[in-house]
Amino acid sequence: MKLFINRVQEGLKRTREGVFSKINRAISAKKTIDEELLEELEEILIMGDVGVATTSYLIDAVKKRVKSEKYMNADELETIIRDEIAGMLLPAPEMRTNTDTKIILVIGVNGTGKTTSIAKLALRYRNSGNTVLLAAADTFRAAAIDQLSIWAERTGCDIVKHKSGGDPSAVVYDAIMAAQARNMDYLIIDTAGRLHTKTNLMSELNKIIRVIQNKVAGAPHEVLLVLDAGTGQNAVNQAREFSKLIPIDGIFLAKIDGTAKGGIVLAINKELNIPVKYIGIGETVDAIEDFDRRAFVEGLFLKE
Ligand code: GDP
Ligand code: MG
Repeated sequence: MKLFINRVQEGLKRTREGVFSKINRAISAKKTIDEELLEELEEILIMGDVGVATTSYLIDAVKKRVKSEKYMNADELETIIRDEIAGMLLPAPEMRTNTDTKIILVIGVNGTGKTTSIAKLALRYRNSGNTVLLAAADTFRAAAIDQLSIWAERTGCDIVKHKSGGDPSAVVYDAIMAAQARNMDYLIIDTAGRLHTKTNLMSELNKIIRVIQNKVAGAPHEVLLVLDAGTGQNAVNQAREFSKLIPIDGIFLAKIDGTAKGGIVLAINKELNIPVKYIGIGETVDAIEDFDRRAFVEGLFLKE
């Protein structure tokens, strides 16, 4: 029994209990590594939302290592699986910074956690002494603008907003002008993500991106896609759709605390080649962690 569990380990509790502890148990119940065990591992991974392609890749890699190393005990097998998973995870890139005001564009389907995640990022930047302007470019509902305004107030950020129903790209235009005039360190843009009007959504986002690119060469300096970890394979599909629009620098994987589907990180990395940059581990504004590959794998396999 561990006396102290860190926040990442706590956030991964459900995924660990739902998936990776099962791997631990399957391995330790066996003396030798045989077909049956590999099949069992495969099933656990697929059920755990790691994805079919990613699971096959993992199992093949394990098979290869088992073949070449001949004898192997349970601990060694677990180490191999951990190594393979760690090797699959991509490092998150640093933000491109060629200007005084860094522009972060946050996209994703409604309800995934965009606005909350923006508040988390904003507070972080504020706490490290930066000035932050938020742009309320989800103009569709008044409630969405209000929600961002409340977060701006609580986190000590400026906000640029228009009336609801307004043109999102006009908000973005004004926000860029304001951020530059006030010499803000960061501009974080909240956007709408109404899936049922997919073509509208994509053309709206396209317009926003064009405004940003026209105003500031090299911007946006970071494109973050927010995904709800609880949606499993759906999250992978969303990432695929949004990356047709603009290259995504990193995923903000929200709500990992509430789900056993955290294995989705592997599928996103392996199948889409997009790194996870942050994880959301709760509803409070401080419930954010950098995605750290080692801490993540340790959190998955922690033995309590
Ligand atoms: P948006 O529509 O994409 O802007 O999503 P919101 O930011 O409004 O969030 C939708 C819901 O998810 C809210 O109830 C948030 O409190 C909740 N939420 C966001 N991030 C997290 C997280 O990391 N963990 C948990 N448990 N809930 C979260
Ligand atoms: Mg929102």
